[in-house]
Amino acid sequence: MTDRYCVFGNPIAHSRSPAIHAAFAAACGQDIAYAACLAAVDGFPQAVAEFCAAGGKGANVTVPFKEEAFRLSTRLSERAARAGAVNTLAFNGAEIFGDNTDGAGLVRDIAANLNCALAGQRILLLGAGGAARGALAPLLAGQPAELFIANRSADKAEALAAAFADIALPQGGLSAAVIGGGSFAQLAGKSFDLVINATSASLSGQALPLPPGLFAAGSLAYDMMYGKGETPFMAQARAQGAARCADGLGMLVEQAAEAFFVWRGVLPKTTAVLADLRRQLAA
Ligand code: NDP
Repeated sequence: MTDRYCVFGNPIAHSRSPAIHAAFAAACGQDIAYAACLAAVDGFPQAVAEFCAAGGKGANVTVPFKEEAFRLSTRLSERAARAGAVNTLAFNGAEIFGDNTDGAGLVRDIAANLNCALAGQRILLLGAGGAARGALAPLLAGQPAELFIANRSADKAEALAAAFADIALPQGGLSAAVIGGGSFAQLAGKSFDLVINATSASLSGQALPLPPGLFAAGSLAYDMMYGKGETPFMAQARAQGAARCADGLGMLVEQAAEAFFVWRGVLPKTTAVLADLRRQLAA
């Protein structure tokens, strides 16, 4: 019998996840159906309960339900517990397993698809919302030389840095001292090899207050947002000297691949799916 999955969100009509998972299933020979499910803003638990009762095996969760999915989960992966948000649910009897694949998807896109190793790099993470929080543990696991979080509300960046300062890393290669957080003003005089935009400023087309010299020679500027063509952050980064710019489409595909693995135990190949999606977006 075909196993059923879906993505919950509000709005959800724009979601690319059904197409991504259909492509993964076809490529991996997995018999699944995957739909987009609009849940009422105050009706997420009920929508999940109904999907489970109808035999649903798992779900992705997007804006604005990731924190609610975290609270609804009866068991959490370590990375979801760290992120404080869940984007992947797996239903097994009475258990609701909550996972978060966003950060792993981001890191796979940067390291594997964009060929940018994290070890020894100076990383700047812009933003201190849900996406930034989910990215921190996987980024730190890559053993950068430094990870600084800058946010419009500096106190949130400081709190986030403090919350992840205890992460125990393999080989003892990183001390908590390399993690810091603060305001955009504190970036003056600093430069970074990898700058990741996890703010939603690009959505409103607003430029970020980034000082000159921020992008080191050979640096990669990565915007978690994606769209048709260059995002406002990518344009700003290019103008300020970033050597390479990328948007978050690869992150979207890689987090989906991770979710597929959670459900099916098979990690799909992503190159062709990402290329197809890129073509559709550009059309
Ligand atoms: P949140 O609402 O949780 O956080 C938004 C962040 O953006 C906050 O740090 C906020 O700062 C900052 N911000 C908003 N407007 C501005 C502005 N004008 N100038 C400076 N900072 C600003 O959002 P998420 O963390 O969920 O998402 C962030 C981005 O990541 C979105 O663009 C989203 O689309 C993208 N994303 C992409 C994914 C992918 O698969 N590619 C997956 C998940 C997210 P403050 O704290 O001061 O309000």
